[in-house]
Amino acid sequence: MKVKVVKFGGTSMADAKAITQSAKIVLSDESRRYVVVSAPGKRNSQDHKVTDLLYACYHDIEINGECKATFDKIRVRFREIVQDLGLDFDIEPYLDKAEEEMLKYRSSEFCASRGEYLSAVVFSKKLGYQFVDAKDIFVFSDRGEFDAEATNAKVGETLKNIERAVIPGFFGADENGNVHTFSRGGSDVSGAVIARAVGASIYENWTDVSGFLTSDPRIVNNPAPIEMLSYRELRELSYMGANVLHPESIFPVRISNIPINIRNTFMPEAKGTMIVSQVPQERIKESSITGIAGKKGYSIVFIEKSMMNSELGFARRVLSVFEYYNVSFEHMPSGIDTLSIVVADSEIAGKEDVIVDRIQKTVNPDHIEIKTGVSLIATVGHGMSYNPGMAARLCSALAKANINIKMIDQGSSELNIIVAVATGDYENAINAIYNEFKNR
Ligand code: ASP
Repeated sequence: MKVKVVKFGGTSMADAKAITQSAKIVLSDESRRYVVVSAPGKRNSQDHKVTDLLYACYHDIEINGECKATFDKIRVRFREIVQDLGLDFDIEPYLDKAEEEMLKYRSSEFCASRGEYLSAVVFSKKLGYQFVDAKDIFVFSDRGEFDAEATNAKVGETLKNIERAVIPGFFGADENGNVHTFSRGGSDVSGAVIARAVGASIYENWTDVSGFLTSDPRIVNNPAPIEMLSYRELRELSYMGANVLHPESIFPVRISNIPINIRNTFMPEAKGTMIVSQVPQERIKESSITGIAGKKGYSIVFIEKSMMNSELGFARRVLSVFEYYNVSFEHMPSGIDTLSIVVADSEIAGKEDVIVDRIQKTVNPDHIEIKTGVSLIATVGHGMSYNPGMAARLCSALAKANINIKMIDQGSSELNIIVAVATGDYENAINAIYNEFKNR
């Protein structure tokens, strides 16, 4: 029988209604054998995610040595869920134990993990599937680094003998039993790890949107959905801010070529987005771009020196300054006598003066300045390499909209074109690019 691994996000676990809907999805296809869940998320925009409440509990414990008031909010949520689901099971001992252990271990990662833990206990009761604790199968080092290979072996070995299971996402443990978590949103990674270990035919990631859209709906009016994209395209888009899925989720499934299908729990009839290793050639040839994503908050360190081109090691020495101050950069377009380094404001904040000063001393440029207020926009798609004139179309669309391009960088794989624009032009630029390519 085919095996599907399904992962449900926070909104799909937020209350009894959502959980009932999620259960219906699992039970409607018998190959959906392994289920990974997030902690209950927000029920409305004013609500709290259980994970955020758990981090707040840790904070309370640090300050007051207890977290009763905050943990009571979590108790109420889980009690309500169990009651509304009509489950004949007593969640109180689980809640008591969670609070007790949170006080005992005093670790923020342990505290945070209890949302997924309790969510998986409840969902396993609802489905009648076995509960498998992530602590026993996800292996971390004592420094909190995830051990992908040891986990793969352990998950495979354990689940081989279990027909159907619910597993909490987001965490695992080291050999001393201390709990460690992935970064926020990490249940997506847990699902991908399980999919690889059991050799799933597909990894279904059920969330509250019907997959990726070609652009940000807060900027572009009604952008088209993306039916299919490659792991590489996804990586480019999610790096630049399209965050439907944790960017690290692709690594486990890519190894075994397992497609990821992003689906909407609340609109299960929608096909969602399929993420595959190789998009079929015919599809690529028919398309122009796959998606547009972008981020605000960058600066450009602009350096000018005549005869820069003949000075051996110039760029290396400049970059050594960034390395020295632990600042990673995004792009480095260069001219004969100029070099621009694009960096995120969050990286360079507070270090501007020392960096300029040290570059001054290291390479003695004629001119150096930091241009702030820059945004980056990535236009992504394998189709770009098949269609000549894409960069020209993109640039003229921006020119027509009266937008100055501060930098343009085409990846050597021709998978993306990145432009830098003034942040004031950001929304207009995305719309201009979208409209240029929306009909191919
Ligand atoms: N509950 C965790 C978070 O809110 C992990 C997850 O949902 O994927 O980040």
